[in-house]
Amino acid sequence: MLDWNTIDTVLLDMDGTLLDLHFDNFFWQHHLPARYAELHKIEPEIALDKLYKRFEEKRSSIEWYCTDFWSAELGLDIPALKKEVQHLIAERPHVRQFLSALGSTHRQRILITNAHRDSLNLKLDITGIDDLLDTLISSHDYSVPKESPLFWQRLSEQIHFDPKRTLFIDDTEDMLSAAEDFGIAHLLCISQPDSKATPRSDFKYPAIEHFSDLLPIN
Ligand SMILES: [Mg+2]
Repeated sequence: MLDWNTIDTVLLDMDGTLLDLHFDNFFWQHHLPARYAELHKIEPEIALDKLYKRFEEKRSSIEWYCTDFWSAELGLDIPALKKEVQHLIAERPHVRQFLSALGSTHRQRILITNAHRDSLNLKLDITGIDDLLDTLISSHDYSVPKESPLFWQRLSEQIHFDPKRTLFIDDTEDMLSAAEDFGIAHLLCISQPDSKATPRSDFKYPAIEHFSDLLPIN
């Protein structure tokens, strides 16, 4: 699928790529609406409906990914609520094996995530995957999400990498499109970001099931 001789930097998304998206989907679709319903003494379905309308207004903006914003907006401590379900945070299969193989073949491993630093740190505390990454970038550091061309410009100013010799793996096609527009040569999607959801098909980009599909790396 890939010619590893043409790749020396790998950019990796976190949620739905290195980690199971089930945690995030469960949190935003079930846990938060349940707590919001308790707070406002309304039915969970009504809470879900109200929340989705508010989420939709902010989609693709940096606020959509910002726990500080949603804590203030909803009057709930989002980081504390996430900790209540932190047992659902898990790596996707073969992640450690893949990251180790990249490291032992001296490839640069860079995490690029739209997750706020609060969420990023919680996930690193639970999984320890930062031991297998060289650099960790939250798009909140640049105040623009990954789907913005400005994100890619700022990333290239901070980190030295050759887009033509770079692979980017992300479960969201909008992110891959932004990377493609910037000139990243190798792009891969994830067919089943949430282990509890049905695998997807009809991708615009080549998709892998598990990281073992990309092994061995030479
Ligand atoms: Mg993702």
